[in-house]
This record gives sequence, C-alpha cells and structure tokens, in this order.
Amino acid sequence: MRKTVAVQVDDVVPAMRPVLRSQGVPEDVAPDERMARLVKESVSIYRDLVDPVGIVMEISKRDFETVYRGEGMNEDETPLGNIYGSSDSLALFAVTVGERVCHEISRLFDNNDPALGSMLDSAASEGTEMAAGVVETYYRRHLNDTGWLDGSAGTLQFSPGYCGWHISAQKKLFEFLRPGEIGIELGESFLMRPLKSISGVIVAGPKEIFSFDNDFPFCRECDTNSCRDRIRDVWKQ
Ligand code: SF4
Repeated sequence: MRKTVAVQVDDVVPAMRPVLRSQGVPEDVAPDERMARLVKESVSIYRDLVDPVGIVMEISKRDFETVYRGEGMNEDETPLGNIYGSSDSLALFAVTVGERVCHEISRLFDNNDPALGSMLDSAASEGTEMAAGVVETYYRRHLNDTGWLDGSAGTLQFSPGYCGWHISAQKKLFEFLRPGEIGIELGESFLMRPLKSISGVIVAGPKEIFSFDNDFPFCRECDTNSCRDRIRDVWKQ
C-alpha cells in the first residue's frame, strides 16, 4: 500500500491552548489580551495559507531494517530498535503543511514582526503534528478495514532525530518513500523542505510492545518526555 492522503484543513487547525503550550505558557496560565490576540491572528493566517498533505507507504521489516540502520549512526539501543521486530506491520510516512505558511513565517521575521512570526511558527508546528496524526489514523483505519488490526493492537510513530534514531536515517527513508511526490524534499543536514514537515515510521502491533521505560542514556537530555503521553494514547486507541 502506497497512498497520498488528502488532509483536510479543518483537521489541522490548532486550538489556542496547544499554540500557547508550544510558546512555553503553562496550562494553568491564562493569556493576556495581547497574547490571545496574537494567537488568534496567527491561527487565522495559518488557516489561510496551509496546504496540508501526507503520504504513507507500507514497508516490510526487512526493508525497514535498512531504513532504520540508515547511515549507521543510531544509539546502540533505542525504543524503536527494540520494538519494530515485534510489530505486525510498518509504514513510512511524511506530512507537510506546505511552503506558503513557512514562507510567511520567514517574511514576518524579516519584516521585524517576531512576535507574530513566532506565534505563526508555533501554530504551524502544532498543525504539522496534527497532520501526522491524521495520516496515522488513516493507516490505522486501513489496517482495521483489511482485518490486520483489532482492539488489542495500536500504532505509534517514530521519527529520525528523536529517541536515539539518528536524523541521518532520513536519507534512506526518503529513498524508499520518495515524498518529493507531495512536495517534500530533503535538504542539507537532513532537514526537510518545507520546514514544517514530519517524516517517520508508523509501527502497528500489540499494544504491549509499546510499553517501554524512558531510561535510555539519551533520555537524560530529553526536555519533553513526550513518549509517556504517546504510550498512554496507544491504550486509548
Ligand atoms: S524520554 Fe524523551 S528521548 Fe527518552 S524515549 Fe521518551 S521521548 Fe524519547
């Protein structure tokens, strides 16, 4: 299965709170009038400019071994490295919210409006995460419809550059997935163009395989511990 996913704009427009969280505003702090206005303006600009699209492609464990190994720069042990061998199926994916919104972020910074530029950057980052979620849901539905997934199984995404999977694995991921078809290119230092894009692998399998501890050496430098929420979400699928 290889499929371009038409992501709906309404599915990738973030609410105010996630944008504020991305700006470092604590959950229990209400934004002042100026900040609330900036969030609303940035989300409005984002909605006008966003061009969301994704692509997803199933991949065998054997081929994924090549993608995972990448350029041989991963940490010795990683959550993904421990999990994917026990999966039922794997799919590479890439999503973007498009170049127009990225261009507007740069323009705002260049035109001396860093407050709105930064807020738009946060809105676009949140929107890109939402687009990745849409593609993951699409793949989960595909597995359900084809009888490969039941209530005891779930999915979890991993991306190069996180949790010990070295960012240089992007090279092999792009060779297999070829997301240039939806306008995502790999640039220097393995960064993607448009900048607001996410690529990675969706792992599908029994929910138990995703229950890992966050005690890898690299976890000491992790600011987010986002795996804890993500693992909890697997059990809600
Ligand atoms: S603590 Fe951070 S680095 Fe460690 S597995 Fe979780 S998200 Fe990844």
